[in-house]
Amino acid sequence: MATLIKNGNLYQAGRIYQADVLIEDGKIKAIGKNLSDVVKENLVEIDATNKLVAPGLVDVHVHYRDPGFTYKETIHTGSLAAAHGGYTTVCAMPNLDPVPDTPELVEKMCSRNQEDGVVKVKQYGSITHGLKSEELVDFDGMKKAGAFAFSNDGSGVQTAGTMYQAMKSAAALNMAIVAHVEDNSLLFGGVMNAGKRAEELGLPGILGISESSQIARDLLLAKETGVHYHVCHVSTKESVELVRLAKQHKINVTCEVSPHHLLLADVDIPGNDPYYKMNPPLRGVEDRQALIDGLLDGTIDMIATDHAPHSIDEKTGDMREASFGITGSETAFAMLYTKFVKTGIFTLEQLLQWMSINPAEKFGMEDAGELLPGKSADLAIFDLNKEYVIKEEDYLSKGINTPFTGEKVYGQTVLTMVDGQKVYQKEEK
Ligand SMILES: [Zn+2]
Repeated sequence: MATLIKNGNLYQAGRIYQADVLIEDGKIKAIGKNLSDVVKENLVEIDATNKLVAPGLVDVHVHYRDPGFTYKETIHTGSLAAAHGGYTTVCAMPNLDPVPDTPELVEKMCSRNQEDGVVKVKQYGSITHGLKSEELVDFDGMKKAGAFAFSNDGSGVQTAGTMYQAMKSAAALNMAIVAHVEDNSLLFGGVMNAGKRAEELGLPGILGISESSQIARDLLLAKETGVHYHVCHVSTKESVELVRLAKQHKINVTCEVSPHHLLLADVDIPGNDPYYKMNPPLRGVEDRQALIDGLLDGTIDMIATDHAPHSIDEKTGDMREASFGITGSETAFAMLYTKFVKTGIFTLEQLLQWMSINPAEKFGMEDAGELLPGKSADLAIFDLNKEYVIKEEDYLSKGINTPFTGEKVYGQTVLTMVDGQKVYQKEEK
């Protein structure tokens, strides 16, 4: 069976133009005009007139909570949420129970991801056993078992010696170290960004240096070891400056920013509301601007959601007790398109580059991020013209913990395909 996606506005090779996409046996067979003549039998046509046809988005940072915390999310519900957001490849963090910190556990996760995921779910292995910053994992064995890269996301690697050894091992295997940077000795029990807004709300603050000082350390270690060092969710202007300087010095570093750090600053936190509690926290207005500038000048390579679902209980009450994190898969593209592309700050081509080509390219995912003949038919179709409201009842994630519910936006996902199969289709109401 073949599928023809007709008359869409295709994003390909860095530009947007009108073309049809012909799909056969899960692969893109051809891109061009008048392709209905190529295959005559059993051809299913999808009309994409006035719609954006994009490569399936790629998210290198999601939390699926499975096994261990399936009341928050499962591989199945998390991947349904990804498909709803237009994502076709995601990379799942290892802060699970048990932590995938042995080759056997990584192998098990990889096969579960494949069985339960409706999109392609890649698996991070941890850097240390139990995410504890002490005993290093069997990097070689974990790579062979299918680990995508190594990360202790959720906490920083606390000692330089451990990070140095991890980087040396990962570099020898040509694997990336993906770092949540956070120095625990600089946290002082904070729950939001340290500053005027925290003082107004009477809440303990998290200093920017808890992040940037560890990036500074890691960049020097990355220079020494030559590892591909990727920084998760940069949030401060000092972090951006350090990565910019490191790139000038040809250190092998990449980094990501989350949609919420681009969209909000601490001044936007309306009150003691756990839906605004995330790690790293929403920073100051100048930090937010530095993140936008960092994307525009190429210091920041990609946007990753840090999709972090939690139960209602865990996100209700006082910010001091609530869990860190918000969901992101189902709101990222529409929120960013509406607030940055519609307003002329980013071009649509730039946004798509940061959400598809760049993450795939920087992590060497050969079969993701671009629409090209011969590649897997992983794509998403978006409606950029019709305004809609982000509604809680439309979420496919188990988590509803996002401050973006109720926003009026453009960029609704109409259809998502993985290997030529529909994994999400908008219901006609
Ligand atoms: Zn993190």
